[in-house]
Amino acid sequence: MYVMVDGKGLIMPIYHSVGKKCMERVEIIAYRKAVKLHVFMPSKRTIWTVVGNRYEYWINPPDYCTCKDYYFRARALAIEGKGGETSCYHLKAVEIAKARGMVDEVHFHDDEYYDFIRALIDTIYRGVKGG
Ligand SMILES: [Zn+2]
Repeated sequence: MYVMVDGKGLIMPIYHSVGKKCMERVEIIAYRKAVKLHVFMPSKRTIWTVVGNRYEYWINPPDYCTCKDYYFRARALAIEGKGGETSCYHLKAVEIAKARGMVDEVHFHDDEYYDFIRALIDTIYRGVKGG
């Protein structure tokens, strides 16, 4: 999807594919440290999330996000083979944050894993239900 080079090199291909308005949203997400990598120790299990304006989204980079935009637009386009943008701006923000070293890495103990998953699923549920 993207070439993982330095920040400047990464930006240009994305500008071409998603347009300036979407790119501005992606930049804002990356700069406010909203891309989070949760690392559970000692197992080193990881969960990626992006904190949006209203909800936190569970991300499996490079190709899955729990947001509505990904499900109803990006995924539908990919399934129907219609082409177009098959990602969402959360996934783009993850790529940019990774390339620029702007991922907020948060460490937890493995004992916290199930409560974390429960809270994250509750957030996703509210996002899906509430819009
Ligand atoms: Zn998304």
